[in-house]
Amino acid sequence: MAVDVLDRPEAGAQPLIDGYGRRVTYLRVSVTDRCDFRCVYCMPEHMTFLPKAEVLSLEEIDRIGSAFVRRGVRKLRLTGGEPLVRRGAMDLVRSLSRHLRSGALDELTLTTNGSQLARFAEELVTTGIGRVNVSLDTLDPERFARITRWGRLPQVLDGIAAAKAAGLSVKINMVALKGVNEDEIEPMLRWCGAAGHDLTLIETMPLGEVGEDRADRYLPLSAVRRDLEKRWTLEPLPLSTGGPARYVRVAETGQKLGFITPLTHNFCESCNRVRLTATGTLYMCLGQDDAVDLRAIVRAHADDGALNEAIDRAMAAKPKGHDFRIDRRGAAPAVARHMSTTGG
Ligand code: SAM
Repeated sequence: MAVDVLDRPEAGAQPLIDGYGRRVTYLRVSVTDRCDFRCVYCMPEHMTFLPKAEVLSLEEIDRIGSAFVRRGVRKLRLTGGEPLVRRGAMDLVRSLSRHLRSGALDELTLTTNGSQLARFAEELVTTGIGRVNVSLDTLDPERFARITRWGRLPQVLDGIAAAKAAGLSVKINMVALKGVNEDEIEPMLRWCGAAGHDLTLIETMPLGEVGEDRADRYLPLSAVRRDLEKRWTLEPLPLSTGGPARYVRVAETGQKLGFITPLTHNFCESCNRVRLTATGTLYMCLGQDDAVDLRAIVRAHADDGALNEAIDRAMAAKPKGHDFRIDRRGAAPAVARHMSTTGG
């Protein structure tokens, strides 16, 4: 049998295979739980953030991330909270980028709200970052201020423009919210088409208390897609990232359009990812509580033996899938932690 060299862990290292035979090749890392925005569906306005001592140092993040890379992780995404508001975030990016140069990683990327992109876009490019995901739910300044509470649209649009000018490809992530921005899906599709950005639509997920009932805002993307198909030519793309998104090509604009549908479509059978929180807890599923504390291990052991054993335990405990439901009004969130904790 031919062995794919690009899909092989470092010589002597065991690949990451879970109890259902799924190969884990993608690590998402929450660099910080803090954010300069307070998106209404993500966290309450007066969110309590973690004390510094509980948060992994940048060196600890690098050490854990690098251990995963040695075990065959090919893609690493920095997220949060807002990754670019953490002091020294670019030092971490620079340091992890050595795995790109060595060929061990295919991609190092990040998900950002765009507020700091004008400042960091060029440096990201020189570090080897090729693309970023930017969260943008609306192109209307007042709506933007209402959804993000603390964000300002022009700052984010400047950041996106700077990213494009620096040569980064930008994918826009838009959470589709009933009665909030559903009328902007088509304008966003057109704006992305004109600017050359791919677009991914995301269903709101029941993660953490936010002080409002998400059932009121839940917009099933299956219905959105059917509606778009009346006016746009959506050509299905076979491409699967092992993630929750299903992609089409919009013939009229040439751009890709993704649908992340955790509630209307079960995508767990091909899951290839795990998530590290800012406190070093490894979650094997966004929608389940199974977790392994890697912080205690890296703080207690200078060598990576115990860390690798803990990673093996985590693989064995990766659940088959999540069971998000948002159909009961007033029901508690499926998991208590916020997206900003697990890393969106
Ligand atoms: N600060 C960065 C950003 O804004 O992209 C990264 C972290 S943020 C938590 C990552 C993504 O998760 C954003 O696109 C955000 O809109 C999305 N998100 C947060 N809470 C969510 C929820 N409950 N359901 C669906 N998406 C959510």
